[in-house]
Amino acid sequence: MDEQRITRIVEQVVKRLGVEAPAVIGQIGGHIGGRGVHPTIDAAVAAAKRTFKELSSISVKDRARYIAALRQVTLESLNEMARLAIDETGLGRYTDKIEKNRLVAEKTPGIESLQSESFTGDDGLTLTEWAPFGVIGSITPCTNPTETILNNGIGMLAAGNTVVFNTHPNAKHLSAWYIDLLNGAIESCGGPSTIFNCVAQPTIESAQALMHHPDIRLLVVTGGGGVVKAAMSSGKRTIAAGPGNPPVVVDETADVARAARDLVFGASLDNNIICIVEKEVIAVAEIADRLKSEMMRNQAVEISGRDLKQLEKLLITPDNHVNRDYIGKDAAVILADAGIRVPDSTRLAFAEVEESHPFVQHEMLLPVVGFVRVPTVDAAIDAAVRVEHGYGHTAVMHSSNINSLHKMARAVNTSIFVKNAPSAAGTGLNGEGYTSWTIASPTGEGMTYARHFARARRCVLKDSFRIV
Ligand code: NAD
Repeated sequence: MDEQRITRIVEQVVKRLGVEAPAVIGQIGGHIGGRGVHPTIDAAVAAAKRTFKELSSISVKDRARYIAALRQVTLESLNEMARLAIDETGLGRYTDKIEKNRLVAEKTPGIESLQSESFTGDDGLTLTEWAPFGVIGSITPCTNPTETILNNGIGMLAAGNTVVFNTHPNAKHLSAWYIDLLNGAIESCGGPSTIFNCVAQPTIESAQALMHHPDIRLLVVTGGGGVVKAAMSSGKRTIAAGPGNPPVVVDETADVARAARDLVFGASLDNNIICIVEKEVIAVAEIADRLKSEMMRNQAVEISGRDLKQLEKLLITPDNHVNRDYIGKDAAVILADAGIRVPDSTRLAFAEVEESHPFVQHEMLLPVVGFVRVPTVDAAIDAAVRVEHGYGHTAVMHSSNINSLHKMARAVNTSIFVKNAPSAAGTGLNGEGYTSWTIASPTGEGMTYARHFARARRCVLKDSFRIV
């Protein structure tokens, strides 16, 4: 009996005894032996390659059943996933993580998004269908660990691919546990147990090995500037989802109370670690003070004077980087460490600063945002374009002037532009449309889904098969 099988049996026994999976993860060391969890990238790719062959002869209907099982097992595990994510990564908010994962389970498109296309006419019939690439390499962030695995996983499987994930080292236990859980869900409805694969001990080196592995047909990376650059220079076909610095503009025609409520909710969602959420506020002077008061009615606090100096010292290093120790921490915890006492229920802190301030310029990924006052809506749009840094990621505007909304949408030119809602509406959270957690601005796909993980294949039949 091999080591993987023994470990699986131990896990099943322990599960039956009612011991929680996270304790098991620690005891068995890195979780090698879970379904799809391998010691090396080579082993993971080899398993994914074998399973891809198997998957090629499995019906599309079966793929749909597997995807339904992935959604179901996730919805049944939301609390556990959120708890594990907080415990391992130390980032974000428990209740928000539940909602993020629920959204991914419910609104990630599956096989229904891979409708064939046909053209008919005097010359006959032309058909386009969507074929898999094979084995896809997916590199995932610690900010949305399970969300990205599920969102990529559903889309990639829908198109008939298998996957090797290089998960974030700071979320490796949770990720391995979740990949095992997903594979188990597929296995329990009669499918293969290694459609999704990963290494138990992911590192930058294993990510590099994945990027350069000859059997990886497509790379999909979700993370900061470093991983995007590395993937795009790997020589492989790449879908790259990189960083953002989403501005939110509020102009003098906005419903200020609603804008304040929405932007506090958005900017504090999962403690601001999500790439698409509001990262700085740009307010037209006429409504700036009213906006601040309304924000404070929605569990935000304003920081100024000596307190602001303390907070800058805590959050920005002498060489002008964000202090990573505070990424994804609760506002009250951050402020307490800066010597500022606020209620535990505080969701967001903001500080009125110049546009050049690090709280505005940096992608902080924590619930403290810069607040910039500008004289006019045109000045606000210009500032928003500058502070977005050309990432082309996400931007938000609250306004009731259709011309201003149109002007900003065109000027900022982002993958997601949200009007009069929290930016999370752009991912489908209380907004229309499907969800995506790999928003590929550098390579241009935007909100990725199954279609991006498939090859278009055309078949032409001359003359025959018209019915009119
Ligand atoms: P990160 O860049 O630190 O890590 C992401 C992944 O890339 C990890 O698995 C990491 O191991 C790997 N990695 C990092 N540098 C690498 C390199 N040089 N070579 C190979 N692999 C490398 O990001 P994070 O802290 O986990 O996530 C936050 C960042 O990701 C933010 O910048 C956020 O905006 C961005 N993000 C973007 C999207 C999107 O859809 N555009 C979604 C989520 C997160």
